[in-house]
Amino acid sequence: MEDRTFICTPTQEEAGVTNNWMDPAEAYKKLDAIADGAMKGRTMYVIPFSMGKIGSSFAKYGIELTDSLYVVLNMKIMTRVSSKVYEQLKGGDDFVKGIHSKVNLDAENRYICQFPQDNTIYSLNSGYGGNVLLGKKCFALRIASYQGWKEGWMAEHMLILGVERPDGDVKYVCAAFPSACGKTNLAMMIPPEGYRAKGYKIWTVGDDIAWIRKRNGAFYAVNPENGFFGVAPGTSAKSNPNALAMTKRNTIFTNVALDTKHNTVWWEGMGVPAPERAEDWKGNKWKEGMTDADGKPIKAAHPNSRFTVPAKNCPCLSKEFENGRGVPISAFIFGGRRAKLTPLVYEARDWEHGVFMGSVMSSETTAAATGKVGVVRHDPMAMLPFCGYNMCDYFEHWLSMGARMKNPPKIFNVNWFRTDESGNYIWPGFGDNLRVLDWILRRCDGTVDAYETPIGYLPYPKDIDLSGTNVTEEQLSSILDVDKIAWYYEAVDIGEFYKKFGDKLPEKLAKQLRILKKNLKE
Ligand code: GDP
Ligand code: MN
Repeated sequence: MEDRTFICTPTQEEAGVTNNWMDPAEAYKKLDAIADGAMKGRTMYVIPFSMGKIGSSFAKYGIELTDSLYVVLNMKIMTRVSSKVYEQLKGGDDFVKGIHSKVNLDAENRYICQFPQDNTIYSLNSGYGGNVLLGKKCFALRIASYQGWKEGWMAEHMLILGVERPDGDVKYVCAAFPSACGKTNLAMMIPPEGYRAKGYKIWTVGDDIAWIRKRNGAFYAVNPENGFFGVAPGTSAKSNPNALAMTKRNTIFTNVALDTKHNTVWWEGMGVPAPERAEDWKGNKWKEGMTDADGKPIKAAHPNSRFTVPAKNCPCLSKEFENGRGVPISAFIFGGRRAKLTPLVYEARDWEHGVFMGSVMSSETTAAATGKVGVVRHDPMAMLPFCGYNMCDYFEHWLSMGARMKNPPKIFNVNWFRTDESGNYIWPGFGDNLRVLDWILRRCDGTVDAYETPIGYLPYPKDIDLSGTNVTEEQLSSILDVDKIAWYYEAVDIGEFYKKFGDKLPEKLAKQLRILKKNLKE
């Protein structure tokens, strides 16, 4: 509900051009009027919760009031709900105040309002996870990104994963992809067989949000959540066996289909035949092949249906998950869905160029976002719907976090979603993405070469290991190309996007765009 989500700061300038803004006084008046009496006759639940390990230096606390049992049960999985939170508060008011009421699920009066200066969130008339599990996007991204800016750390829409290599060394990366672009899948992927045989392992620290602090010249990240709220459709024994395994117990399913014969769940892309007798996500009787008035197939599960599972269910959960000091980050990775143009992987020349790459990220929209599916939209650092303050201040914050660092993490961009003329994905993706991660880590070690192109460093195709895949060298080369003319159009489009920000756009980013254009002209 991006159009119903507001950042309520004293001035509109503080929210910036990418956010909906409401004046706090006006917002409180409006929200209190809607909320007045809304919980009458209902049970009000009080949820004390921690984002991050209770008592750790990363931890931030919240209290959510809600009239939804669904929220209570999901919050107990997704966050650390404990009365110990009250002890940590020591009677003070340094906690996020979250108020949620379903009211009557009236879309016209639906508001998700963040008040960064007041540590306050109001969420009214919604029942959707991202809007009502206030610890997640509202707190851990919108409010926390503001806190991070003020306090010198970062709250990012990033997965965190550890790659264990044959020598036993584990290196950690953070990756930002827009919603439904593969964070959960990448975070818990299973290495291809050849890699497993060599001793590669993947360890999941987080699949959605990273809180990142600098210590002794390095970045350390924690996952502030305590569970996974993943997209169900497409999750199969083939695409994400770890995710499927972890949903076998203690799991809440939202908007999936019910197999009424076997009393179990089902969704499209589960990799097993559709149930004989089923109810779709709306509770209607459903059979495979049913069509709507326009002749389109009726889906059994909503495309954005979800599972909620405790982190400890994850078979590949990192032993560092509970480490309150975080894991050291070797690389930051940006990515999105681009059927054309963006190569499988490329590397920034330096930190500043990497921040530019993140700021101009764009992706084809999915069912998890507002509006039409499949149109390219700019989504800086995958934070467009989640940045709780002015995006230009956010860019400036990113630039400053890596400035004057001796060895800042390297920054990369990946794209698993290039398609051929028939619209089929060229890159196998999923576990095979380790082939790209491995190249990224070898770049961090300095043990593999790359060549410079107008957009950054690209791998030599020979350095991406294709053994055990059906990908031909020709196909690989086709997704490791830089089409200068198409990129020039992209640069023009970036210029249009940047215009939105006016004078407030950091000069360093404007300079990076000039460099890109110059490189492409040459
Ligand atoms: P998240 O919302 O960013 O965590 O995204 P998910 O990991 O839940 O994935 C969203 C969708 O992208 C699912 O339908 C996945 O099957 C699909 N997906 C994830 N990784 C890949 C990949 O490497 N290649 C392709 N083609 N699809 C992928
Ligand atoms: Mn996810």
